[in-house]
This record gives sequence, structure tokens and C-alpha cells, in this order.
Amino acid sequence: MSNKLMKMRAQQSIARQSRRHASALVVCEGTGKFVVGGNWKCNGTKDSIDKLCASLNSGEITADVEVICAPPMVYIDRVQSKLNAPYQIAAQNCWVSKGGAFTGEVSAEMLKDANIPWVILGHSERRSLCGETNEFVGLKTKYALDTGVKVVACIGESLAQREAGDTLNVCFAQLKAILDCVTEKDWENIIIAYEPVWAIGTGKVATPDQAQEVHAGVRKWMSENVSPDVASKVRIQYGGSVNAGNCDELAMKPDIDGFLVGGASLDGEAFVKICNSAAHSK
Ligand code: PEP
Repeated sequence: MSNKLMKMRAQQSIARQSRRHASALVVCEGTGKFVVGGNWKCNGTKDSIDKLCASLNSGEITADVEVICAPPMVYIDRVQSKLNAPYQIAAQNCWVSKGGAFTGEVSAEMLKDANIPWVILGHSERRSLCGETNEFVGLKTKYALDTGVKVVACIGESLAQREAGDTLNVCFAQLKAILDCVTEKDWENIIIAYEPVWAIGTGKVATPDQAQEVHAGVRKWMSENVSPDVASKVRIQYGGSVNAGNCDELAMKPDIDGFLVGGASLDGEAFVKICNSAAHSK
């Protein structure tokens, strides 16, 4: 083999290795802005909600984080008029298609009309209590996105599924149902919230290593099934008993790009502290 050919082969091999290395880096870490959501669920009164808004407004939020609060639907307008920047508003759910004869539901068109930029979809409480299937969550996600409402899409395994070693398969099946409905570009407007069901509202938080392991698995799956670019940009929140005491350690993990917070989001001071854990993110 001539010297010239040998040199060319060597260069090609180095280029291949560095491409592999680059894609390994992409798979292992998120590059999106830290994002924290507060899911207020079905809690509050006019009075308590006003106090929570005042407490949130009085906190100082770092510029390194995007913050999204999801009040109960009946108070959404009130909260929207009270919360200052940088707080954004999300609904906790919306209907799967255009509005009409769907008693008790709220359509994505209504959210859009009311200037609500985000909606949480597929929360485990809606999956388990309201019978929402993976496929239904996928269809809802697509409809909301097509209507111009961005989506926080929740995934996560039950305790029995974790104990059976099915954690990643459950998460992948939930993601696949979304993937089947959306385009590659749609992922720009989706946040994935990994919320192990056994950690939601139980005070049992996943350890930082447990959470990181699933987040890295989800990002790898995204890289292989969507693209390395989307995998590195998509934000993956952790949710499940996050509080002011455990957020900093979780935020340090390279694939944890933020949190979805239930209980602790009803305490303004604690929630601000959780938002500011963005400073500990890689
Ligand atoms: C949630 O419901 O999304 C959640 C994470 O709740 P908690 O923080 O209370 O566990």
C-alpha cells in the first residue's frame, strides 16, 4: 500500500473514531435549557392560589432556567394574570381533537385562544385514573402540537414494572406511541417528563443514579429512533417527590434537564429553590 493511501486510511479511521466519540457524547448528555414545571394538580382556592402567586413572584429565579406552572383549569386565567415573567403557564390536560360535544373537556384550540403555551399530557394520574392509553396520549400530543400548544409528555413505570425489570421497556413503549404520531420537527416543542409512578407523591424519590440511568436510556433511545440531534436537544425532566432538599443533587446528573414537581410546587419558596437548582446542572 502506498504511503499516500496509508495516510488517507489513517485519517479516515481517526475521523470515524471522532464521529463515534461525538455521537457518544451527544447520546450521553442533554444540551437544552434547564426547565422546571410545577404541577399544582387539583389543589387550591382563590385565596391560596393568590398567596402562591405572590410568593413565586417575590422569589428570584436564575436566568438559566425556564419555568412552567400548571394551575387547575378553573384558576388558569387568574394565575396567568398574576404571575410575572419568567413564569409560563401550562394546562394539566387537554382533549384529543377539536372541541365540541365533550362535556368537561378543554380543547387545545381553547388553550391556544387563551394564550396558554403549554400542556402536560400523559401524567400517570390521568393514565391510571382516567384510563388514558399510550396511543391516546400520542394522539393528544400530536393534536396539541398541531394546534400550537407545546407539550410536557409524561412517561414512567409503576413499582411492579420496575421490580420486573421492565422500566426502560415501559418508557420506550410510551415514547413510541408519541413517536408514531409526531414528526421529527415536533420534538422541538416536546419536553419529556420521566416520572416513576412509585415516586409520585410518595416521598420516595429515585436516587440520582436511578434517575440518570433511565434518562440516559431514554436519550439513547431517542438518538436511535429519532436522531442524535433531537436526542441531545430534547429536555428530559425528572419528576417524583422532588423537593428543596434533594433537587441540587439530582440536577447535577448530566441527563437530568429539569424537574416536574407536584407537592413542592405548592410552596413558593421551595419551588423557587428547585428552579434555582439549575445552577448545579452540568
Ligand atoms: C407529579 O405529580 O408530577 C409529581 C412529580 O408529584 P410529586 O412531586 O408530588 O411527587
